[in-house]
Order: sequence, then structure tokens, then C-alpha cells
Amino acid sequence: MSFADLGLSDKVLQAVTTAGYTEPTPIQAQAIPHVLARRDVLGIAQTGTGKTAAFTLPMLTMLETGRARARMPRTLILEPTRELAAQVEENFERYGTNHKLNVALIIGGVSFADQDAKLTRGTDVLIATPGRLLDHFERGKLLLTGVELLVIDEADRMLDMGFIPDIERIVKMVPFTRQTLFFSATMPPEIERLADMFLHNPQRVEVARPASTATTIEQRLVATGAEGHEKRKVLRHLIRSASELQNGIIFCNRKRDVAQLQRSLTSHGFNAAALHGDMDQRARMAALDGFRSGEVPLLVASDVAARGLDIPAVSHVFNFDVPHHPEDYVHRIGRTGRAGRSGQAFTLASRSDERSLSAIESLIGQPIAWLDGDLASVSDEVEGDEPRRRRGSRRAKETKGGEETKSGGRSTERSAAPASESPRSENRSRGGRRPAAERSRADAPRRDPVREPEPVAVAPSAPPAPPRELAREPVRSAPERARGERRPPRRDEDGETPVGLGSHVPAFLLKPTGFGKSK
Ligand code: AMP
Repeated sequence: MSFADLGLSDKVLQAVTTAGYTEPTPIQAQAIPHVLARRDVLGIAQTGTGKTAAFTLPMLTMLETGRARARMPRTLILEPTRELAAQVEENFERYGTNHKLNVALIIGGVSFADQDAKLTRGTDVLIATPGRLLDHFERGKLLLTGVELLVIDEADRMLDMGFIPDIERIVKMVPFTRQTLFFSATMPPEIERLADMFLHNPQRVEVARPASTATTIEQRLVATGAEGHEKRKVLRHLIRSASELQNGIIFCNRKRDVAQLQRSLTSHGFNAAALHGDMDQRARMAALDGFRSGEVPLLVASDVAARGLDIPAVSHVFNFDVPHHPEDYVHRIGRTGRAGRSGQAFTLASRSDERSLSAIESLIGQPIAWLDGDLASVSDEVEGDEPRRRRGSRRAKETKGGEETKSGGRSTERSAAPASESPRSENRSRGGRRPAAERSRADAPRRDPVREPEPVAVAPSAPPAPPRELAREPVRSAPERARGERRPPRRDEDGETPVGLGSHVPAFLLKPTGFGKSK
């Protein structure tokens, strides 16, 4: 089947040819004719299947007739995240080059005024995240009674993110006679209920869920302890020793870990950006642009922020945490090995991840090989180590829907450095557990800083760590100078000598300033 068989307009077909697409993807071939026939569509498809074009291409065709009126958008697309919304806007730009349509992006984190101006001009396509859309509505700046077509995208993500009450409110404000396109990667009962409620006699189109992972992706598990400092060290080693690493995404389960890990990597000389839901829109777009352009080769991201992002050709994926939902694993590692290219995916796993790992392996229908010894070889969690385990379970409770909740507290870091920069100690690679005395010796803080290998090519614009001989002389107090004493080298939370301030933020910088407080 070709695009020409689907009933799309000439202008859209031209744009598709310019985009270089030769044939429609299965979701496009199935959905487009029904959308053009003004049927409601229930599309079960993940990102990466071409589903955005499955609704943007027929929408462009349909919008060629008619005109937009001020503050009354003709079509509305709801997206769970700002990045996804921005990506849909990019799709309209790409496929709508031959059209003169007004497209407005209504997302949080950017000024209301510009968005208002666009709405006032009249909007053919309104792409929005639910919260900001309702804000505009409540300010009386928007009327949804002219919406002819409504798209609810990534419905299961909306559910995960707690947006369903907002969506229900919005749908009530849109005319009953509208056409509705509803997309979701999965169909849990709550989503089935919503689909029944929002859609009238829908056409169901479904493409296979990527429960299996591409054969071009080499997957490995890397056994590690559960503590952050050890995981960060293992990660650094993996990045440095990775073969053919051009760029990589590092996934964390929690937003606070994204921020902390990015700081830590930067302090160790890597060129890494962060992407998580608490960042403002400008910072998120800057991080993404830097990563897309290749300027910043490492992106530390949370699932929610990274979901559905169209980032071509990622050579490596690192799961700093094992995802709680097995589908997220498939989704994360699907960022590499795209379009027949080869890719590598490494997942750091500790003993507390065993259940999540088996859920992943049963979803993908195959075991994942360990890079260098399995969890039996991890020696940092000693049987009866109650305080650590209790802390682990409390952290698990603080995590909801893949990103931390507001109640998440700060974790305490232990300073014991692993015996080597290798993912596992020499002893562990021999497959045995170390005797207790040896363990306690190795787990005690080391006196000599671990010599870091030279930074690899992934950090082209990062300043190389200065050779030790050139490192700045540590500042000594007057009595120390008088006694000729030297302070031990400063260590960061990983027990290593950081670059600059490292990931440490002095307490005085965290104190509230009182600026901006309302009287
Ligand atoms: P999506 O699932 O909408 O995020 O699309 C994933 C990727 O597929 C994007 O990079 C699109 O540009 C690309 N794409 C969409 N439709 C086609 C097509 N028919 N042929 C080739 N690539 C496509």
C-alpha cells in the first residue's frame, strides 16, 4: 500500500514525499482512511510506530477547508508532556509546509501572553497539555465549542500522570458531535472505560506492542549494590569502557536521581544534560536540543520526560535504575537499535530489583545476559543488613508512576568506595562471596583515591580532568601550614576527587533568600 491509496490530499502527499517516507506504517495504513471518513478511532499503538503522522496527515487534509475563528480552535490535541506536545507541533510544521494553518502550542513553563496572542489570532490546531489548557479556559481566554476533532494521545500515560480528571473535564467542554481519536499504548480497564465514554462507535486499530525488543540491540545486566554512589561508579566505568559510544540516554526512575546523577557525571568530566519533569520548559528544550544536535552526548532522563521523544540514532542506553513497569524497559531500550542500526543497552541491577527483572524477562520472553557475574556475586548487601533494606523499602513507597512524588526525601549516601572502578570487584568476578573480614576491609573508606581512567570520547567539550601534578594545591589553614601538614584531597559523595564543586551544594546556597515572597 502507498500513501496515495489512503485518500490524503495532494499537498499532504507532497510533504510526505519531501519527508522521505515511501510507504505508510501499519498504524498509518489502518487509521488514516477511517480518520478521513470522519469515524472515531481507538488506536492501540506505541510511540515509534508512526502514530503521530497517523493523525496529523489526515487532520491536515481535513483542515484544508474551513477557517479558524478567534479563541475557538477547530481541532484539539491533548498530550501528557510538554515535549510530546512540542513534537506534535514539529510534525505539523514538517507535514504542513504546503498549508497556511495556525498551530498553537499551549504548554506549561512558557509565558501566557504569547499563547494568548496565538489563540486570539484564531487556531486551526491547538496542541496542549491538560493543565495549561484548563488555565487558559479558566481565564476566559478560550472556547472549546468550535472543536470538530479531538485527539487524546498517550491515554495510558495520562492515567499514570493523574491527568484523567482533567481530561474528563476538557471532554465535557468539547461538542458532543466532534470526531474523537484516542491513542494508547496499553488498554488497562480504566482506559477501556474512558474509551467507551469518549468514543462513539469507534474503529479499533491496533499494532503489535513492542513486547519483544529489536534483535539489533545487545542487552546486558550489570550487577551492582543498591547504593547510589556505587551505582554511579559502575555507570562511569560502563560509559568509559563502552565500545563505539556516540551518544547515550541514561534513565533513572526518579526525578531527583536524574538531577543528582547529571551533576555527578558533570563533576567527573562528562558532558551530560538532564531532562526531568521539574525542569522549566526552556531548560528541557535546551537539554533536548543539545542532545539532538550531538553537542551534549549524554542525556540523563526520567521516563515521563523522555517518553515518546523522537531522538534518532542513539548508540547506547543505560538504565541507572531497573524500571518499575516492564513496558518501560522495552520503551527505554527501544531508543537505541532503531531502523536496523545496532545499539547497546546496559541495565544496572541490585538485589532489590530481582522481581522487576523477572517481570521484564517474562514480558520480552527471554533472559537478559549478565555482563560480568550475576547478583549472587554482589557482595555489598550483607544478610541481616536491616537498616539498608528498610531505607530501600521507604524509597520504594515514595515512588509513584515512574517519577518520585513530592514527599520524596533526601537519601543518605555512604562513603565506602568499591574496591575497583570495575562493575564488580576482582573477587566477585571469580564468582565467590568475600569473607566478612575482607569485605569490611574493602568496604572501608579507601585512603588512596581511585585513579580514574582518562575520560573517553563521549565528553568532547568537557574540560579534561587536570593531571594530578597540575591539580590545584589544596587550601591549608595557618596552623596546618605552620606544621607543614597537607589536607587529604577533597572527596565527593562517591569518595572521589571531583571536578570543581562536584555535586556538593554548600548549605548556605540552599537557604531561602526571601526574594519573591509576597507580603
Ligand atoms: P512516532 O511514532 O509518531 O513518534 O514516529 C516515530 C518516527 O517514525 C518519527 O521519526 C517519524 O518521523 C517516523 N515516521 C513516521 N511515519 C513514517 C513512515 N511512513 N515511514 C518512515 N518513517 C516514518
